[in-house]
Amino acid sequence: MTLHHTPDNHDYAAELADVKARVHVAEASCGRAGAGVQILVATKAWTADAAVSSVRAGARLVGESRMQELAEKGEALRDAGAVIHVIGQLQRNKAAIAVEYAACVQTVDTLKLAERLSRLCVEAQRDLQVMIQVNVSGEESKAGCAPDEALVFAAAVQALPALEVVGFMTIGLNSPEEADVRAGYARLRAIRDEALISSERGSIDLSSAWHLSMGMSNDLEWAIAEGATMVRVGTAVMGMRD
Ligand SMILES: *Cc1c(COP(=O)(O)O)cnc(C)c1O
Repeated sequence: MTLHHTPDNHDYAAELADVKARVHVAEASCGRAGAGVQILVATKAWTADAAVSSVRAGARLVGESRMQELAEKGEALRDAGAVIHVIGQLQRNKAAIAVEYAACVQTVDTLKLAERLSRLCVEAQRDLQVMIQVNVSGEESKAGCAPDEALVFAAAVQALPALEVVGFMTIGLNSPEEADVRAGYARLRAIRDEALISSERGSIDLSSAWHLSMGMSNDLEWAIAEGATMVRVGTAVMGMRD
């Protein structure tokens, strides 16, 4: 695993300011001005120094995708004051690394993984926020539970000790077709809305599950238009990974 070093001339604060401006424009142009969409900086493939530089420039939320990298960077990120989210596929035998460093695991998509996280958290006497990853695009290569199973699955995860379901996450369709990409994001929002409405009625307990983590460097405007509460931005802040 070779991680990328910070290029000397890279201005994290300026890149982050550009992304914030994009988010504000996107919020305003879909009637969500002041919505406070959160920006999570995806630091996969970058060194601890580079990731910490983004935190010093004002990124508070940092997303790590690979647990081997998180094990390497976790302590430096924690010392820098980052709030770490796991945004990559999490194998059960790596769950302990997530429990050590992460405030939130966004990629919970099987009950076995949720049960492992729950058990580790009980042992560590901590609570963990989780999001339910849903495969809204239907692409076989993508992780996530099926959309029509998401609500029942989320309720089962919420029932486990030490876990709190704070929302839903998806990796959007990789396509230039706005309508197709947005249809997937709308689907995730509909699942979230149903979770909140069902919770109000008292049939399930997912009242904390209001987050919609969707949208990346290339399509955050579309995701915000469909209700994203958190966008995950790598390239646009950190630079090209290759
Ligand atoms: C890498 C990654 C991102 C960021 O992608 P960019 O296109 O670099 O903005 C977002 N979400 C997940 C799950 C990722 O793995």
